[in-house]
Amino acid sequence: MLKRIIIPFLFVFCLLPIGVQAEGTTDHGMVTDHDISHDSNVSLSGIQTTKSITVKKMKVAAGDQGISVKQLEFVGKLLKNVALPTIKNNINFDGLFTDKINVDLSKVHILLFSNSESYQNALIQAGVPHDSIENIVENSGGITDGTHIWIPLYTYKDRSELTNILTHELTHVVFHQANIEEKLPNWLDEGIAMYNGLQAQKNINHIKTGRILKNIKYKLTTSIKNGESVSFNSTNLLNENYTSEAFYLAATYFLVERMGVSKLNEFTRSVIDSNVEEAFKSTFTITLKEYENKILQAVGQSQQDSYSSNDDDDDDDAEFLPGYRVRW
Ligand SMILES: [Zn+2]
Repeated sequence: MLKRIIIPFLFVFCLLPIGVQAEGTTDHGMVTDHDISHDSNVSLSGIQTTKSITVKKMKVAAGDQGISVKQLEFVGKLLKNVALPTIKNNINFDGLFTDKINVDLSKVHILLFSNSESYQNALIQAGVPHDSIENIVENSGGITDGTHIWIPLYTYKDRSELTNILTHELTHVVFHQANIEEKLPNWLDEGIAMYNGLQAQKNINHIKTGRILKNIKYKLTTSIKNGESVSFNSTNLLNENYTSEAFYLAATYFLVERMGVSKLNEFTRSVIDSNVEEAFKSTFTITLKEYENKILQAVGQSQQDSYSSNDDDDDDDAEFLPGYRVRW
């Protein structure tokens, strides 16, 4: 059942012989992804495919005649060798694939497009609202409805970028199928998908990923310094400015850098059987709201809600959130 399509704001960049310069790539090295899985009027399931392969039960198919079998196989390799292992490591992948949770990779269909015209036509056919299509085609690195993933392959300059978007979208799909996506606040859903994407990209090109992170950090801090406000309430990132996306990534990065990937894994495991507030508090020993407020304070924004700070220790706060001097 389709709910929302995910067009991840992606960090796009690599070396595939896939072709053309990314239209959606920006000077700060970030590309968009968009989530439309809550839009029941949109269906990504109706496109006829001419070629396909199966990788780890997932179907990887050509969205138009311009996609070769070689390209399908290349994407299949990235999924199998980098995207899946990253997700497995970071978010309790094995635990999500139980009878109880019922995440099934055979339901995952990944469709690749070789040019903007066929991508745009497919979006029209899928029922994506007209006023969103131009933005999606020009600014998004991929979309998903929780089962299907569409990738405009022509926008990727190299395989590290492509690995990033594949991992990002697949994270959304896993969360969606495990019914976790609905529980997570948007910033964590997107933040974890972005985090996983960058971790996967790092495996392909460590130096480039480091540069991207530095650049994102610089742009974010500059925007905030120049008076741009940030919040945890942005829900439509495709139509938001780049700062919201970068802020979500920063908030997630702080958390994982500070607590460790094993805690992220534990959190995902915990959220299956409880609500997000309980899972967050039991895993990270701070409430979700407190964490959000600490991040806002760290960037000089006012708190969104008041909360009791009786248990807080100033020294610990300083250590927990050392401003923007966190390593990316
Ligand atoms: Zn996303």
